[in-house]
Amino acid sequence: MPKEIRNIYDINEGDVVEFFVDEEKIIIRKYKTQTCIFCKSTERLTYFREQFVCFSCVENVTKPLQQRRGRATDTLERLIEAMERHPGASQKQLAQLIGVSQGRVSQLMKQMA
Ligand SMILES: [Zn+2]
Repeated sequence: MPKEIRNIYDINEGDVVEFFVDEEKIIIRKYKTQTCIFCKSTERLTYFREQFVCFSCVENVTKPLQQRRGRATDTLERLIEAMERHPGASQKQLAQLIGVSQGRVSQLMKQMA
């Protein structure tokens, strides 16, 4: 790489750089250590919106409510959330998603109506 270009991009000799091909452009940037943006883990990383996120943080972000069981209002909140995420899901599927019986889902839906 020519020295002039390295100077512009603040890349020193010996720095590791990454090359990306993005449609018609070639992107060159300094290599960043691949760690989870939340917990800095280097295990089981997945690339999300130009950041690395580890598998367990993805789980925590996407399923914060599923494991939790609690009062009726929590169940209702979980049901509403599940319906927003899975608009086409049947009562049975929703029941499985939030960990309650189908009868309970049906009951909650009547409350909402
Ligand atoms: Zn993480």
